[in-house]
Amino acid sequence: MKTQNIAIIGAGTAGLAAAAMLAAQGHQICLYEKVSQLEPVGAGLLLQPAGLAVFEHLGTLEHALSLGAVVTGLEGQLAGGDLLINSHYRQADERSYGLGIHRATLCHVLASKVREYPQHVEWCMAHEVHELQESSDGINVIGQSADQSFQRQFDLVLIANGARSHLRPKAWEKLNQAYPWGSKWIIVPECEVLNPQILHQFYDRSNIMMGVMPTGAIPTQPEQRLSSIFWSLPTADLEGFLKTKSAQQQWLLEVSKRWPSVAEWLAHAIPHPDDPQQWLSANYRDVVLSKLGKGRIGILGDAAHAMSPQLGQGANMALLDAWAISHALLQYQQDSSLQNLWQQYHQLRLPSVRFYQFFSRLLTPFYQSHHRWTAPLRDISFRAMYQLPFFRKEMAITISGLKTGAFGQMNYADIARKPADDSAAELRNLKFD
Ligand SMILES: Cc1cc2nc3c(=O)[nH]c(=O)nc-3n(C[C@H](O)[C@H](O)[C@H](O)COP(=O)(O)OP(=O)(O)OC[C@H]3O[C@@H](n4cnc5c(N)ncnc54)[C@H](O)[C@@H]3O)c2cc1C
Repeated sequence: MKTQNIAIIGAGTAGLAAAAMLAAQGHQICLYEKVSQLEPVGAGLLLQPAGLAVFEHLGTLEHALSLGAVVTGLEGQLAGGDLLINSHYRQADERSYGLGIHRATLCHVLASKVREYPQHVEWCMAHEVHELQESSDGINVIGQSADQSFQRQFDLVLIANGARSHLRPKAWEKLNQAYPWGSKWIIVPECEVLNPQILHQFYDRSNIMMGVMPTGAIPTQPEQRLSSIFWSLPTADLEGFLKTKSAQQQWLLEVSKRWPSVAEWLAHAIPHPDDPQQWLSANYRDVVLSKLGKGRIGILGDAAHAMSPQLGQGANMALLDAWAISHALLQYQQDSSLQNLWQQYHQLRLPSVRFYQFFSRLLTPFYQSHHRWTAPLRDISFRAMYQLPFFRKEMAITISGLKTGAFGQMNYADIARKPADDSAAELRNLKFD
């Protein structure tokens, strides 16, 4: 079997997961990352069962579970406390759960896995890639490290450098635009007034949304359990949020009119406006590509399909992309057909990517917009639909990250299967519709 020289650009969720899986297959990986140290700043995120299946495949699930927070479902309250969303993973599968995890912990777990393959992975930290040049016998990666420029040839390049990637081919972009809403977020000690196994959301009309997410612990302080708080806002309002004590008191008053016990907890949990630890901003993009790979270039993670985090799928999709590329490469090692490589990657990923892109764009205005009609429509239709067991189950499968279309789904066990258990014939037959 011929192994490949592969450049992976970006050591985020997608890049690290791909590096670990491809190194395990014996490929030579060069991991380019523009920052000099992996110190990921970021809110907690929720790994769905689909992402956890990839962790099981990678052999990192136990490590992630030791630091993350098991989440059994999502509850969304309207002002006053009525439950609009009451979705639990067990409605999809009795054994299913999610994992709230700090971004630094996610990075630590994946990077530890990559470090198990020192012979196969070259870490090129503080290397910013500027350009790719494809030729018939390889692809050149061109960039800058400190004040030195560099250029090196590879068999394949995997672009995993996030939503704002300038490396993905322009001709593949069908949509690439900033989303008009974002959120402020902060990480605080674990919330003691809400069930710590539930992702809690709070909505009033379509323009007020707050989230409290179990976030587990960071590797350097494993005893301190954490929660992430999200507050949704139009991007123009992100900068000025809670800059003064009076703005903070006014905001707490607005929250307490709707959710009094949560406001009481927030009053103690959030920092004073002069405190160095402050709320940070998150902006989102919508990126839709016509293809995820061609020739010697493949794209994964947010670079391939950034979307609003309403459905909590971004990191899961990045993990599934890495898993799918590693499967497609197993076949490529036998037939050396680039066309078949990307055909298989598309077969494994495009139906699911298209479904979540569509669903996320459909749902997000119901939670983040100033339209007058969206909230009443959402509240009436969700209340009615959640009465139906079929709908409850479909929503739980959707949130689990396993959907491939209105009626299709992936199986956790197919994703989780360890590489050693896979036979080439089984892999060739693996396809979801
Ligand atoms: C507020 C918020 C909440 C979220 N909640 C969830 C959730 O609950 N569940 C979920 O699954 N997802 C969630 N997401 C989405 C998730 O965080 C992302 O989808 C996921 O982390 C994307 O991973 P990635 O590897 O594609 O990109 P990134 O993590 O952005 O990594 C890209 C890497 O590439 C590097 N890079 C960039 N350019 C270059 C270059 N030219 N050369 C070299 N290196 C480069 C960057 O430094 C970075 O390390 C959320 C996102 C936000 C903003």
